[in-house]
Amino acid sequence: MADTLTLRRPDDWHVHLRDGALLQAVAPATARQFARAIVMPNLSPPITTVAAARAYRERIHAAAGAGFTPLMTAYLTDDTDPAELERGQAEGVFTACKLYPANATTNAAAGVTDLAKLERVFETLQRIGLPLLIHGEVTDAAVDVFDREEVFIERHLAPLLQRHQGLKVVLEHITTAEAADFVRAGGPRVAATITPHHLHINRNAMFRGGLRPDFYCLPVAKRERHRRALVAAATSGDPTFFLGTDSAPHPRSAKESACGCAGIYNAPFALESYAAVFEQEGALQRLEAFASEHGPRFYGLPLNEGTITLERCDQLVPQRLGEGDLSLVPFHAGELLSWRLA
Ligand SMILES: [Zn+2]
Repeated sequence: MADTLTLRRPDDWHVHLRDGALLQAVAPATARQFARAIVMPNLSPPITTVAAARAYRERIHAAAGAGFTPLMTAYLTDDTDPAELERGQAEGVFTACKLYPANATTNAAAGVTDLAKLERVFETLQRIGLPLLIHGEVTDAAVDVFDREEVFIERHLAPLLQRHQGLKVVLEHITTAEAADFVRAGGPRVAATITPHHLHINRNAMFRGGLRPDFYCLPVAKRERHRRALVAAATSGDPTFFLGTDSAPHPRSAKESACGCAGIYNAPFALESYAAVFEQEGALQRLEAFASEHGPRFYGLPLNEGTITLERCDQLVPQRLGEGDLSLVPFHAGELLSWRLA
């Protein structure tokens, strides 16, 4: 068994870096592992303009240091002006835009209430080739929380792709066998990101011995058969699927609460976490493509220069990182990981 694994520098195609003190606390972890990252725009207020994205990008640069490139996204609302998206792309600010159905997750209150209101936006995105990143869950309270992704695909995503045959879409953080099948069948203009936690846990993790807020995220983890389908998709070598951590830190007070926030903080050990899954499947030789090649090819961006090396070496993941209200519980807290970023 090889004791080191050297990969082209990877990127994270879906991350929440937050803002303010939390940004300062978490950005270095992402920058240590990844060359670039698609940064989610769901701040409060959300990033809806070129000026706001540019200013946020500066704050990320300051927090993450040199050598890391944040790729900015625009948060779509019912009132998004397509001209703003076009200008943001032309000025090298927007790499993609993000669709949250209204109230689907953290800071999604200003999200889209009805896709029909965005027809002009979708036409523009298709024309200028700006990818549409989708949080694919319906918010209809009558739909069971575990079925919301599947229902979104049937009700909204399939018709959207039908109406706009040239639109480039990433279905983010997929959690079901149905989503993997749908994306696989969607051709080269449709892709999906897969998180480390959805590859490792099923929904039982939230209830093991008691209520465990650190395993609560949205879309919520599903049954074991879905986890198995995601592992098969991620490790298959299919360029449709690529790395996106959805690392989503929250202060402890927001996680350990009567109404705890959704989100798992996995940035500090993300590659080690993915490596564990690929190794279990006997697919370590396909980790590089998933982490470093499929994403940039979909986005039409150059592959990174340079490499990173993982070494086989047990590391115990700490129970907490940081201090005070910024003390965060990393994914795999208290567990041994068998690879370590050199
Ligand atoms: Zn997310």
